[in-house]
Amino acid sequence: MKYYSTNNPNHKVDLKEAVIKGLAPDQGLYMPEKIPVLNSDFFSNIHKLSFKEIGYKVISALFSEDLSQDQIKALVDHTLDFDAPVVPVEQDVFTLELFHGPTLAFKDFGARFCSKLMSMLQDKGAIKVLVATSGDTGSAVANGFLGVEGVEVVILYPSGKVSELQEKQFTTLGENIHAIEIEGVFDDCQKMVKEAFLDPELNSKLLLTSANSINIARWIPQCLYYFYAYSRLPKENKKLAFSVPSGNFGNLAAGILAERMGLPIDMFIAATNVNKVVPDYLSGQAFAPKPSIQTISNSMDVGNPSNFYRLLALFGGDEEKLKEKVQGCFYTDESTKEAMVNVKAQTGYTMDPHGAVAYLGLKAFMDKYPDTYQGVFLETAHPGKFRSTVEDALGEALVLPERLAAFMEGEKKVTFMENDYEQFKKYLLG
Ligand SMILES: *Cc1c(COP(=O)(O)O)cnc(C)c1O
Repeated sequence: MKYYSTNNPNHKVDLKEAVIKGLAPDQGLYMPEKIPVLNSDFFSNIHKLSFKEIGYKVISALFSEDLSQDQIKALVDHTLDFDAPVVPVEQDVFTLELFHGPTLAFKDFGARFCSKLMSMLQDKGAIKVLVATSGDTGSAVANGFLGVEGVEVVILYPSGKVSELQEKQFTTLGENIHAIEIEGVFDDCQKMVKEAFLDPELNSKLLLTSANSINIARWIPQCLYYFYAYSRLPKENKKLAFSVPSGNFGNLAAGILAERMGLPIDMFIAATNVNKVVPDYLSGQAFAPKPSIQTISNSMDVGNPSNFYRLLALFGGDEEKLKEKVQGCFYTDESTKEAMVNVKAQTGYTMDPHGAVAYLGLKAFMDKYPDTYQGVFLETAHPGKFRSTVEDALGEALVLPERLAAFMEGEKKVTFMENDYEQFKKYLLG
């Protein structure tokens, strides 16, 4: 399979180059040149398959030209090492819990697949993985790559803008994981990383790569849990909607990839906080990146979502088709907290702020079409990762899972840096 750049369909590379480069030289995102459609037998029998069996099938369809069956099996076994249960919350409303991995956020899926695939594709020689994070990417990538030989990970994050627990998860590990605290916002971090990839001097001296969702090795495996969720929903003669709490829009784009591969999803809800450039676009405005605004769903505080052009590419660039399949909506922190309180009171279910945004979007959509849809909202992180926000909203103490509590005991080690590319470059060369 070849991968093309969203900025130039004639620029095509093989899997290895797409994964090691991360971003195309023209700053486009790589996309698979063909999207395979799975046969109807697979979908009729999917409920009988395990998560891993579903994973083998889907990953084989995409990667079997480039990887052996053994490699595919190893990749899927490593990635799907934990469950993603579908939990009923209300009548016809389910949540897909994606936080049962090592760092308790959905990014564990992509990070585990990415580190495994990079170690398979890379020849010997040190590789530097650069990541900008608004919170959960850093922890997932750090934990996914910890101890992987020949790989150094450099994580940039905005000072004071990630939760304490998120910060602990990538600043305390040591070994091959290095954290840089930037005096700035997430978009500044993302900009510095992009600049490094395009810097000829750096690239002549270092082998740089990215593990952000711009990388197909992070992005593609996220389609797997949409197939799995579908397989575990009770069979009903209803349409199906998925609501995805979105920031960089990698997760939503992966859901659409699953749909393009034949998964019968009727509608996607692109739910954001007040960083709403994509909902604005979907409701008819021009796509206009803006500075990010800080919210309680901080992993979605993205003003210039890097996967936007993937959304379009998945529909062959047809804006109308995209808008038919994806509805946008956005919510303030106030409504998000209110939803967390109400759902807890009415159903006993504790949502995290990101999942709560998706819940709101799903409910607003389903209310317009009574009795028509089964709806799934993605719970992208464990509520304990946003402990103080959740405890403040609900007015009660949360019980932290043990592996989360363990991170709090580590000692933070970071390099502090101004929002200054030259300083970052010096650090990388040094
Ligand atoms: C990263 C993240 C998101 C946003 O996902 P995208 O793929 O960037 O849209 C949502 N929720 C949580 C908890 C996250 O960590």
